[in-house]
Amino acid sequence: MTHFIDVILPIPVPNKFTYLVSAAEAQFLTPGVRVSVPFGKTKIYTALVYQIHNTPPEVYEPKEIHQILDDTPIVTKQQLEFWHWIASYYMCAVGEVMRAALPNAFLLESETVISGKNDVVLKDSELKDDEFLVYEALQHQTSLSIHEVSNILDKKNVLPVIKRLLEKKVINVQEEIYEKYKPKLVRYVKFPEEYQSDDALKDVLDSLSRAPKQREVVLSLFSLIAKSKKPIKVKELIKTSQSSSAIIKTLIDKGVLEAYYLQIDRVQFTGEKSNTSKALNTAQETALQAIKAGFNHHHTVLLHGVTSSGKTEIYVKLIEEQIRQGKQVLFLVPEIALTTQLVNRLQDYFGEEVAVFHSKYSTNERVEVWNHVLEQSSKAKIILGARSSILLPFQSLGLIIVDEEHEQSYKQFDPAPRYHARDAAVVLANQFQAKILLGSATPSLESYFNAQQGKYGLVELKTRYNDVLMPEIELVDIKDKHKRKRMTGHFSDRLIVEMQAALEEGFQIILFQNRRGFSPIVECTTCGHSPQCPNCDVSLTYHRFKGQLRCHYCGYYSVMPKTCDACGSPDLDTKGFGTEQVAKEVSEIFPETKVGRMDLDTTRGKYGYEKIITAFEQQEIDVLVGTQMLTKGLDFRNVKLVGIMNADNMLNFPDFRAHERSFQLMLQVSGRAGRTKERGKVLIQTYNPYHNILQQVSTNTYADMFKEQMDDRYNFKYPPVYRLIKITFKHRDYNWVNEGASWYAKSLRMVFKDNVLGPEFPPVARIRNQYIKHVLLKIPPKQSLAKTKEAIVKVNNSFMSVKTFRSVRVILNVDNY
Ligand code: ADP
Ligand code: ZN
Ligand code: ZN
Repeated sequence: MTHFIDVILPIPVPNKFTYLVSAAEAQFLTPGVRVSVPFGKTKIYTALVYQIHNTPPEVYEPKEIHQILDDTPIVTKQQLEFWHWIASYYMCAVGEVMRAALPNAFLLESETVISGKNDVVLKDSELKDDEFLVYEALQHQTSLSIHEVSNILDKKNVLPVIKRLLEKKVINVQEEIYEKYKPKLVRYVKFPEEYQSDDALKDVLDSLSRAPKQREVVLSLFSLIAKSKKPIKVKELIKTSQSSSAIIKTLIDKGVLEAYYLQIDRVQFTGEKSNTSKALNTAQETALQAIKAGFNHHHTVLLHGVTSSGKTEIYVKLIEEQIRQGKQVLFLVPEIALTTQLVNRLQDYFGEEVAVFHSKYSTNERVEVWNHVLEQSSKAKIILGARSSILLPFQSLGLIIVDEEHEQSYKQFDPAPRYHARDAAVVLANQFQAKILLGSATPSLESYFNAQQGKYGLVELKTRYNDVLMPEIELVDIKDKHKRKRMTGHFSDRLIVEMQAALEEGFQIILFQNRRGFSPIVECTTCGHSPQCPNCDVSLTYHRFKGQLRCHYCGYYSVMPKTCDACGSPDLDTKGFGTEQVAKEVSEIFPETKVGRMDLDTTRGKYGYEKIITAFEQQEIDVLVGTQMLTKGLDFRNVKLVGIMNADNMLNFPDFRAHERSFQLMLQVSGRAGRTKERGKVLIQTYNPYHNILQQVSTNTYADMFKEQMDDRYNFKYPPVYRLIKITFKHRDYNWVNEGASWYAKSLRMVFKDNVLGPEFPPVARIRNQYIKHVLLKIPPKQSLAKTKEAIVKVNNSFMSVKTFRSVRVILNVDNY
């Protein structure tokens, strides 16, 4: 009898491929084991065994596999099932899901490039002959392709050798997107060398006799050092000496104190649990019981809890319960880099039982977490991760928490699989008969609708943890302010007064402007010309500090011209404003304050993000200006005032979700104000204070927003009432995109009639020299999703068979966000 295996290849093809194996191999193999296989004329891939059988393929002669790579499966049965669900629901190949799921080091292939490690010292005897040859070659060359390794070893099947070298940690797999997790930098203080003796210290204290506050700081540091052997954080010193960061700074400038940074690495966290979880207050306890009761009837419960209501502490209680039962817990967050505070909190309670997983980790770190999860190790009981962590090899998942479930970054855009991690997590939980809790202060219409329909349980938590009132929200009519000349730059007199007051009381301020750079449009006042990106149909943003014009879509930049490129006139005007301009104006209005900026431009550098957060936490920054990065669940203790510089461009964004999103964004930023003792204040500047969304934000009435937005979604047939599939066409040639999209839309219309919208160019119709056009398919609630997708696939296949359209890229995006 002949034996075959069907394998999944990590490439975008619809079918599985069949390979020939020997009887012994068939006996040994199980689904989820990796094999290396030849593909096409020269390629080698790592494939996953899907099934073992005796039926030869009908249309081709099967090749033999090269080698078996694993003794035991590295992918579970349940994962294979889940991946197939993702592929079918989000209309992509299961191979694409495989590629998204497996760390690179698991996916050796002919294109893989390896490099040596400088820091390994090996005894020759630790390596087999062939391993040693590769190791030695890498002493002379920085990197080798798999083909080169083939030549060195004079054989085809080299993946097993590479795999062993990886496991022995002798080599690395080179990655293009290699962005190692950034460790947190914390600021500490100490006495410089010369002041460490008692005598010297006495001199210092004498010299400070007229500066009692500074003296107090020095004395405090002295006693802190005497009490503990540990380094002293700047933050701690400010607290115990009841001083301020300004005083500390003076002392550092005088050379009396010395500041230094230490890294707190969260990936290789080895610390002990240092705290037990907090006792819940009555409202939290009631919510917790309601969630548990909800789980009796529903797999999924939505926790709608206002900002700072203490949702995280409730999650912690639920997690503890699962851990006690030996279950695994998945804690999903929209963006790992922005949740450093949460990572710290969880590690504080759960120590090394928490593993952090992120697609931007190095492949070695990802492999480690993968194996811990697969082996149900105690080092990965709780997996904290961004969306791709739903693809891990869970064994005993008991609970999934989706924090900030409304965040759109849960949806993957590019490349396929274009899945929504929240929605897919609901399916994943069901597979395990596990519970799933969605949490948000501003739930998505989708989830709230599901709760109202009885599909999800619903628990509401309406008070803030320490009974601080929700911040007071004031709308400022800047049209009127402009008319009455009450504006200074982009600041209304109201905002300036409130900022003044907050600063005088020693509080911090957050200013939100959803645009980076100085101003998004430069315009010649003589001829009206405005500089455009050569690669995209969008105007260039002026970045003042760098003196550049930049494209926010493709990264193109040029020097800011002194005169108009078209007519030569020197009268260039700027329109609109971004974070850079806001920050500059703050420094002009309040010259004494320290202003920080948090946006893509300032967080890009090494530790950029960490430094800003830490500096703001430690109150070295008074006013933090930022984009939506500011909205993501940060917990700052001393912020009293939040200013939203301009609500209108969010509200006017051309998207059916713009109003819902504006509501969420504004309430989330507002939620950063007044989280501890004093009630916070929020000022929203707008040209249209009577906009319903702004009224709903100012009264914090989610219910009104929900009702009104749902009416629109019913009337205009949008999600969550109808489903959406967005079909995108891309090509360098304008005509191809046009013709292709029209042809496609016409074919779809024959089946789906009026539920096909477009084709239409998006507001930015060309990016990186590719023209873009969209067709939108609306799917009524009762229409079968499976049949709909079948019909699309048919249209898609005939489209691809038209020779002239073959080079047009077609992207299917199910549940487009
Ligand atoms: P949310 O996630 O709802 O925005 P958090 O869980 O971040 O709220 O809680 C807000 C603040 O209140 C945090 O600093 C948290 O430590 C504190 N807090 C919440 N619940 C408790 C509790 N039961 N005991 C002590 N502090 C709490
Ligand atoms: Zn001009
Ligand atoms: Zn561009």
